[in-house]
Amino acid sequence: MELQAGVVAVQGNVSEHAEAVKQAAKQNGHTITVETIRTSGIIPECDLLLIPGGESTTISRLIHREGLAEEIKQHVADGKPVLATCAGLIVLAADPNDERVDSLGLVDVSVERNAFGRQKDSFEAALDIDGLDEPFHAVFIRAPVVANVGDGIDVLAQVNDTPVAVQDGPVIATSFHPELTDDSRIHNLAFFGTDK
Ligand code: GLN
Repeated sequence: MELQAGVVAVQGNVSEHAEAVKQAAKQNGHTITVETIRTSGIIPECDLLLIPGGESTTISRLIHREGLAEEIKQHVADGKPVLATCAGLIVLAADPNDERVDSLGLVDVSVERNAFGRQKDSFEAALDIDGLDEPFHAVFIRAPVVANVGDGIDVLAQVNDTPVAVQDGPVIATSFHPELTDDSRIHNLAFFGTDK
């Protein structure tokens, strides 16, 4: 069966995620088509969703304006997988800690935007990630951190004891950008539950 993936494309790193999910599908023996999503009506057809980084204020405003917010909530309520990265994590968080972000409350965490920014804007780190055998080269760009996690949250990775990758049911959310390397293992984990 051909899988249908959707990349929420109102703003942010869209094409990189499209390439990464295609690679992940291929490695797991699936054929896939990837739609970029700017309007309502497509998400209900999607088996899996990606919510990229960018600017969380802008992304949250546009997904509400374009009628995507309710569709994303329904996708998660149906138990279908989502990978949200960086601003995507902020947009899905229960508490974005910023009133300019109208978040979806789908990941039971509070976040702090631009939390590494005071020290340095962007950095890279080899991260141990639950579910992956080898460390993952993670790229952080004006990244948020997870300040508090709810009861049902699995913390998958941390930097200095602070969570930077979490799982809440069908959603995996990272503060870094797994789409910016050739390594699609986070996409594999989010969508196929494999470490390939
Ligand atoms: N700093 C951005 C925000 O707070 C997120 C950055 C990113 O997605 N790379 O929305």
